Amino acid sequence: MNTRSGIGYDSHRFIAGRPLHLGGVLVPWTHGLAGHSDGDAILHAVVDALLGAGSLGDIGSHFPDTDPQWKGAESSRFAREAVRLLAERGLAPEHVDVTVIVERPKLASHIPAMREATANALGLPVDAVSIKAKTNEGMGWIGRGEGLGVIAVATVRGASG
Ligand code: MG
Repeated sequence: MNTRSGIGYDSHRFIAGRPLHLGGVLVPWTHGLAGHSDGDAILHAVVDALLGAGSLGDIGSHFPDTDPQWKGAESSRFAREAVRLLAERGLAPEHVDVTVIVERPKLASHIPAMREATANALGLPVDAVSIKAKTNEGMGWIGRGEGLGVIAVATVRGASG
């Protein structure tokens, strides 16, 4: 048995009037995230972390935003596909840890539902999914509310090297 880790980062711009999909849940807010898919930057960062742990490239190489089949796609599909790609290599997710950097909305009350939805998409128990949120102390593009950033680390285990 060996353990591997991967890191993922994503950022999306806020767009007025779009639904805000984050961590597999709909967060009530005035703005949503731009993107070809549903724009769920938490799941995108998690997918990149999982793919990174498997040395399997990145989300753009597997789900190109030029491909109409991913237009408006629920990002949980990307997560399930990443788990499948890992399984082809004899690897399975073990744990993910996520930090969302966003000024508003406040996410604390949504984190339990996000952890559950993300865990469900990955086939993991809820206690294997950590999601944290913090502000950027008002600095820069995040501080101005232009968008949000997400960092994720995934740990996967398996028999392959
Ligand atoms: Mg993205």
